[in-house]
Amino acid sequence: MTEYNQKIIGMDVWQINVPVVSKRSHGIGDIEGGFEVVLLRLRSEAGLEGWGEAACWSVFTGSPEASFYALDRYIRPLVIGKTIADRQSIMLAARYAIAHASEAKSALETALLDMEGQIAEKPVWALFGDKSADKIPLSVSIADPDFNKDIGLLERIHDDGVRMVKLKTGFAGHDFDLMRCEAIRKSFPDIALRIDFNQGLQPDEGLARTLDLAVFEPDFIEQPVRAHEYDLMAEISRKCPVLLLADESIFGPEDMQRAEREKIAGGVSIKVMKSGGLTRAREVALMASKAGWQCYGGDMHETGLGHLSGVHLMAATPEIALGCEFYHAKYYVREDILSDIFPIKNGYVEIPDNPGLGIKPDLEKIENLTIRKSAMAR
Ligand code: MG
Repeated sequence: MTEYNQKIIGMDVWQINVPVVSKRSHGIGDIEGGFEVVLLRLRSEAGLEGWGEAACWSVFTGSPEASFYALDRYIRPLVIGKTIADRQSIMLAARYAIAHASEAKSALETALLDMEGQIAEKPVWALFGDKSADKIPLSVSIADPDFNKDIGLLERIHDDGVRMVKLKTGFAGHDFDLMRCEAIRKSFPDIALRIDFNQGLQPDEGLARTLDLAVFEPDFIEQPVRAHEYDLMAEISRKCPVLLLADESIFGPEDMQRAEREKIAGGVSIKVMKSGGLTRAREVALMASKAGWQCYGGDMHETGLGHLSGVHLMAATPEIALGCEFYHAKYYVREDILSDIFPIKNGYVEIPDNPGLGIKPDLEKIENLTIRKSAMAR
């Protein structure tokens, strides 16, 4: 038995609630108190463990319950008894065994890659190619409905060396958005500003309000209107002098193909959770880049474990060059679930070089946050 041919004999799934430090509002919904994610642990016959996270949001990707049962009921039989070397065939089977559930499939591929990396004694990024950089510039999102609290956050992250923020807009009126853009430009002139509506604008106001905020010359404006409004996205992209980014409109390579054909934007937020894994997220990035689009390293509401899959993706994918938003573990959750601190320093995320994902979760922390777990989880 080579190490890659060892069988996967255990699969544990947890649904956890992760407490957060503040309320956050977005065009499509709020986060208050905490957010829920689903965690996956695979165990091999030789005692190896691979971890992955399904970070879900019901208004965006799907519910945590859907991720939990996708893994526990529908994906479990595709994994148990297979070997670590079977990653690609397991992912193919999962793709067609259950529709959608992209976050669950992301957790699955991440856990398999984590095991593979540990056997190869390489970080996950090295399984895809060379490392493009040692660190990734970090953006922090500004989304508190109480802007005074966000001023405090802006001062704190500025002191920490963060020089990019993404302002969440489209949830509390146009004047509030204009006021915050003006305030950030005036008080933090050395911070790069990005804007994200999270689909918050109505079709009849989408173009005008996007153009109004373009006056502040942000690096990009993200997803002003609903995901399915491809024609309107294309019109806004044509008429807006600032780069338009698609997020909710593009999940996997299939969406990217159509989005490129219909010219709905000039950039895309790449997320492991939307694509159904690192392999497909890389595919989206390569397609986008080939079409002349720019790529941003987006995330959902994630713990440090979810961030790690995005970090390894970006380390191996230089096409994603607009920075990342893996800030939750340091700036948003009350306590992260990793056993070591998620590596953010001077406004950058540092890319781990340890085998696999590089940092293990802390089981005790997970158990304390658990609201549902598979019968086998121990
Ligand atoms: Mg977005």
